[in-house]
Amino acid sequence: MVGVASWGRLASWEHEVQVLTDRTQVARHLDGPLPGLAYGMGRSYGDVCLNPGHVLWKTTGLDRFITFDEANGRLSCEAGMLLRDIQNLAVARGWMLPVTPGTQLITVGGAIANDVHGKNHHVFGSFGDNVCRLTLVRTDGSMLECGPGERPEWFAATVGGLGLTGVIVTAELQLRRVAGPWLDTETVPYASLDEFFALADNSEAAWEHTVSWIDCLGGSSLHGLFMRGNPSSVTGLPEPKSRSKKMPFVPPVSLVNGLTLRPFNMTYFHLNKWKAGRGVAHYEPFFYPLDHLHEWNRMYGPKGFFQYQSVVPRAVGRDAIQAMLTEIAKSGEGSFLAVLKTFGDRQAPGMLSFPEPGVTLALDFPNRGEKTARLFDRLDAIVREAHGRLYPAKDARMPRDLFEAGYPRLAEFLPYRDPGISSALSRRLMGH
Ligand SMILES: Cc1cc2nc3c(=O)[nH]c(=O)nc-3n(C[C@H](O)[C@H](O)[C@H](O)COP(=O)(O)OP(=O)(O)OC[C@H]3O[C@@H](n4cnc5c(N)ncnc54)[C@H](O)[C@@H]3O)c2cc1C
Repeated sequence: MVGVASWGRLASWEHEVQVLTDRTQVARHLDGPLPGLAYGMGRSYGDVCLNPGHVLWKTTGLDRFITFDEANGRLSCEAGMLLRDIQNLAVARGWMLPVTPGTQLITVGGAIANDVHGKNHHVFGSFGDNVCRLTLVRTDGSMLECGPGERPEWFAATVGGLGLTGVIVTAELQLRRVAGPWLDTETVPYASLDEFFALADNSEAAWEHTVSWIDCLGGSSLHGLFMRGNPSSVTGLPEPKSRSKKMPFVPPVSLVNGLTLRPFNMTYFHLNKWKAGRGVAHYEPFFYPLDHLHEWNRMYGPKGFFQYQSVVPRAVGRDAIQAMLTEIAKSGEGSFLAVLKTFGDRQAPGMLSFPEPGVTLALDFPNRGEKTARLFDRLDAIVREAHGRLYPAKDARMPRDLFEAGYPRLAEFLPYRDPGISSALSRRLMGH
């Protein structure tokens, strides 16, 4: 048994870790002690990727490309392949992943199982919208292929299926054309939620990527930075130098606290406000601003941290987001990284996919025990009343009734579960 933590580092739990390396032998591994659970890069913040006391099938040994058709951008690979390695291969050949989250250090299997989203949901949907087919191995030894046009019900259960329908072994992805690695960008400061929504609405038609950073400590006096970008036709610029650093140790207490947050947020805002306007950015710093600081999650200290990400429908979005920001400001808890963005008006591909039309707010909170739990209860009440939902990929504590209310297709999903697969999250939210 070895200790395994997820990205939030709330604790380290004992697991039996088995490394998968041969895609033709996965069924044999799944024949061992159960229940098991696929584990990619453990970049999920909470317990969706954990199975304490039981088996984790680590997939990062399944990291081979299978085929890449450069004429039509179809790429087939093993499910432990990192998005970073796909981007490296594809961008040099004029292709790119259509949907990519805020880190490229995740696996294809993890991206499918959480149906991850990027900054361009209104154009390309979520990760699963760009998966053409996948191969799933179940603990009864069966293997099945599925996609939007082949066993679509298995596909809809597995995309966003939280790893609970089987182990994804291979996937075929549709990439999108790009001229090169650059984006034309613009940063616009805003000073109220009304301004944010106006910017979001006015940007959708002309900008592919939209996201904003918001200072969550201000309560009713808000400010934020709205970032938007489009793939650029610019080519031939020098590639940026790698600036990779590593958080060298776990500090004895969280570096994110009441003393550091306000000055940090003010500095971030003023530095970037000064840089506001148009520019050209490489895709790596634009999409993955934190990837160059390895293990930045250590800065929250030994007790770790939570991320709280909700989505609420657009009609009540302004009031619900304002109510959450007010609660957070009142609590004095807060976040370096408060991200506010809108999702497009489209139906998600998975039965348990997180994205739905509306507005999503994501914040990190140091784990301060009861105090943090009480704030989350108040935020839950706002999300519940707004008929919103929380993102399982980021969750370690949502109550079961909020999960059931937020995911109305849960009953439709349950028959597709593999009885030999379980996670800490499934036991918490589905009873087994
Ligand atoms: C800095 C940072 C930024 C992020 N930004 C975003 C963002 O912008 N948008 C977003 O949507 N998410 C975001 N995330 C969350 C992250 O993209 C997801 O949690 C992702 O699923 C992690 O992938 P992973 O390979 O680490 O999988 P893990 O975290 O190891 O596992 C995630 C789930 O996938 C399942 N799984 C993994 N591999 C397989 C497989 N082969 N077969 C079946 N199931 C499998 C696991 O069982 C588990 O349920 C961010 C995370 C970080 C740390």
